[in-house]
Amino acid sequence: MHCGAPFGIARDLFNSMTLVIHITDWLDEQGQVPLTNVPLRRRALRIARFIEYGGPLPTLHARETLVECKRRPTHCQCLGLLWVMKRDDDGIEVTCRDCQHVEAVISGWQGTGLAEGVMPAVPLTGD
Ligand SMILES: [Zn+2]
Repeated sequence: MHCGAPFGIARDLFNSMTLVIHITDWLDEQGQVPLTNVPLRRRALRIARFIEYGGPLPTLHARETLVECKRRPTHCQCLGLLWVMKRDDDGIEVTCRDCQHVEAVISGWQGTGLAEGVMPAVPLTGD
């Protein structure tokens, strides 16, 4: 298959593979991204970025992130950037608007240190 072929059945298959994540299952006992398991750490950090972008959103609002879609819907890398949406059940839904894939729906994020968005600015005082 060459790049640019229509998605058709492949898209439906991808859509059926949405990851439903309760984020605290992926964090360690201190609520931090794990340091011991590198593959889990990588996946948890990706989800953490979505929470950082999506946590501060009002309900039923969305924003584009700078996180790249990982899909290869036609055996070519999708060039979409992912969007996060705050659902009315407070879940954070992660969607690529280019290939229509819903990558994840995240719950349990409210009590994490990520919920407030990016950390506040820290002054560089030199002491
Ligand atoms: Zn995509």
